[in-house]
Amino acid sequence: MLSSRWVIKPGAWIGLAAVLALGVGIALCQPPPGPPPFELGRLLPPGLRQQLDLSDEQREKIEGLESYAKSKLEDILTPDQRKALESKAGRRRTTVAPQLPDKPGPAVVAGGALEVEGGNDGPKWSITGDVSEGGLGIASREGGLRGLRFPSGADSNGDGKKAGGARIVFRGVKKAGRWYSLKVRMLVQDGFKVAREDQPRLKVSFFKDEGKDSLDSISKSLASVIAADRIHLKDSGTNKNLGRATWRWVGFDFRTPFAEVDTIHVSLEYEGGLGEGTSAEAWVSDMEIMPLPDRTPAAATTARPIPARENLVSMGGRWHYDATGVSRVLPAKFDHSNADRLVYMTDKPETPFAGNMSAWLRRGFLDRLGNLVERDTLIPDAVTIEVSKGRLVIRSRNLPNHPTGVFPDSSQWLDANPNMIREQDHTWRIPLDPAPNPARMAMDATNSNRALPMGPIGFATNGVVFFNPFDHIANADAVWRLDRCCGHPGPGQEYHYHKYPVCLNTPWLDDGARHSPLIGFAFDGYPVYGPYEAAGVLAKDCETNPLNSFNLHDDPARGPHYHVTPGRYPHIIGGYWGKVEPQRRGGR
Ligand SMILES: [Zn+2]
Ligand SMILES: [Zn+2]
Repeated sequence: MLSSRWVIKPGAWIGLAAVLALGVGIALCQPPPGPPPFELGRLLPPGLRQQLDLSDEQREKIEGLESYAKSKLEDILTPDQRKALESKAGRRRTTVAPQLPDKPGPAVVAGGALEVEGGNDGPKWSITGDVSEGGLGIASREGGLRGLRFPSGADSNGDGKKAGGARIVFRGVKKAGRWYSLKVRMLVQDGFKVAREDQPRLKVSFFKDEGKDSLDSISKSLASVIAADRIHLKDSGTNKNLGRATWRWVGFDFRTPFAEVDTIHVSLEYEGGLGEGTSAEAWVSDMEIMPLPDRTPAAATTARPIPARENLVSMGGRWHYDATGVSRVLPAKFDHSNADRLVYMTDKPETPFAGNMSAWLRRGFLDRLGNLVERDTLIPDAVTIEVSKGRLVIRSRNLPNHPTGVFPDSSQWLDANPNMIREQDHTWRIPLDPAPNPARMAMDATNSNRALPMGPIGFATNGVVFFNPFDHIANADAVWRLDRCCGHPGPGQEYHYHKYPVCLNTPWLDDGARHSPLIGFAFDGYPVYGPYEAAGVLAKDCETNPLNSFNLHDDPARGPHYHVTPGRYPHIIGGYWGKVEPQRRGGR
């Protein structure tokens, strides 16, 4: 029985929403910058330490304990093991402190030895033309989200042109290596328009002699990705307020063209703005630049590291442990420090959980005990994974690692949703080697056959749950009531997706140039992929290997797999293809 029945009467919700909103203030939506680096003997990760408000005495005691633990560990480990740990630390994602709310620009994460100009706490952007740093959107809807604004419909600086750019400088390139992955999290509103097809563009310029001598540059136009999104991600059910604008990662992998390069400038720029109306801006909330292990350019179409087959330890089904440089004994647990060693093998190794294990418990959310969160808190291990008895056991706080709408929706931007986002304590189990269920059944048009339950049916790679397309309101299609990342909380205060969460962070960018990367798993253990089947071909339109009513098809590289279908029922999965065991939702 649903005690807190979710009725679609905005009038009735407003009173409740007002009560819930008391004291909530404006939720801060600073996105997570990534997990902290591994450090031998470190007991409390830096982010956590910062959030605890330790007294000097406590800090001193903890540091003493840590240096004791470190020296003991150094005694216990062999020199080879210590070296392996150091190299492990080197290849991990590194993080920056959470950006302070009074900092206007987007969060910048620079991995490895890279240094961002202005430091991690105050990355210094050079802004030109009509571009500005500041709040993105309306705070009561988007939260206190900060970043860069690119207005294609306004000549804000009055120079007669609608153009501008933002540039940021990274040093320490020689130490960090030659291969990099560059990603920018952007939201392009549906009215954003520019005259030229090579714009807006993301540009990387290379310098030597401490940044004095310019060498070369490469750039990528984002026009085709933006245009493709507007067609491919179109959803007639989507809230009209939102248009088709969702947060998504764009970027590319590159190699510095000369060994002398010591400085990189990254810029995002546009000119010839033609936008009109109130939704003519593009926004940037995050930039991430990560060194990748070196490889010869001819050897790969992508710079992503591919572990040697002999370093992969089979765990069952398609799952492997990448033991490159470390012991072949499976770790007791996968967390933010080793998620890139948890490999799902298809035609190439995929690391679906890398970069997705940490998340922010944000101001305005509820914590696990139901207390209102007053300040943003980094949860380094928001998702952890263990392997037990032929299953993957996923423990998740169910915290979105991307911007969300403000909930409760007291501004009535969406549907006056009265619920809040609450940290959960979920444990999910999926078989490592899934098997088809002979008695399987797909949903009919309204799920009147209850082929899929209400509530969680699987999880995305950030640990946030998938629901079927229907909500608690008399089987109403829920997809129009979602925020910009295609999620919202329900009566259980549990954030969930009813359709393709475009905002997810994937190890490869899903730019429509190839088969989409993995984005999650159904509870039967079969993987859920993004929308693309091949370059420019959506799986939902694929005629040579069409999806069945479960939203699933089979190929030699991936086996049976689901695809999300933007704008088309059943959006995520149509039913369980395989067997599902009872799941545990947590202790509450
Ligand atoms: Zn829902
Ligand atoms: Zn496919």
